Amino acid sequence: MFLDFDGSLAGIVAHPELARPVEGAREALAALVQRFRVVAIVSGRRSAEVESLIAVPGIVVCGLYGLDEDGGRAPAGVSDQVDSAVAPVQGAWVEHKGPTLAVHYRRAPNPGKARSALVSALRPIAAVAGLEIVEGKMVVELVPAGRPRKGGVVERLLVEHDLSAALFAGDDVADLEAFGALDRAAERGALTVKVAVRGPETPAELVRAADLTVEGPPGLVELLRRLV
Ligand SMILES: [Mg+2]
Repeated sequence: MFLDFDGSLAGIVAHPELARPVEGAREALAALVQRFRVVAIVSGRRSAEVESLIAVPGIVVCGLYGLDEDGGRAPAGVSDQVDSAVAPVQGAWVEHKGPTLAVHYRRAPNPGKARSALVSALRPIAAVAGLEIVEGKMVVELVPAGRPRKGGVVERLLVEHDLSAALFAGDDVADLEAFGALDRAAERGALTVKVAVRGPETPAELVRAADLTVEGPPGLVELLRRLV
């Protein structure tokens, strides 16, 4: 059981610090741990943050798209360049996550305009620093280029735990990579289920790629309860 956190087990909120798991999520995870070999949260947040938000004994937490194990920081000077590039964009702010940098624009008066301005400003910085841009719901993230992300995490856990069946549930573009990992596992004979957690901002391509759609985090919690 591979689960995204924000937008999947917790509602989308104005600021990442305000996110909380929806009612019943913690209990559902605790029950899943008793029933399935691996219950993992695969998130763009730092692992420690996910653990503080949803402490459930026995779950596996893979933070920063699986990069958290490496520690590491964004290349020297890049943080400052990103801060300077983001400063003129009203309502945008930078979350320094160590090896990755997330630029949020949910509070911008015109999010569409903010997004274009940010992507244009950040693309050259990322290219020079060996980072790539991954977009999500009202966020532009700079992450180390060419590294396995959510798909890599899922692939690694499938092998490590010798899994022949897996479910992944997510709500955003980065989760498509995890869907891809399940597709590859399915080609090798695994039984897989790709779940899109639908909300107002869930990308259409994720819903199209899914086997199953649930309505928001409460819908996912309901599905998990049924699987227990
Ligand atoms: Mg999410």
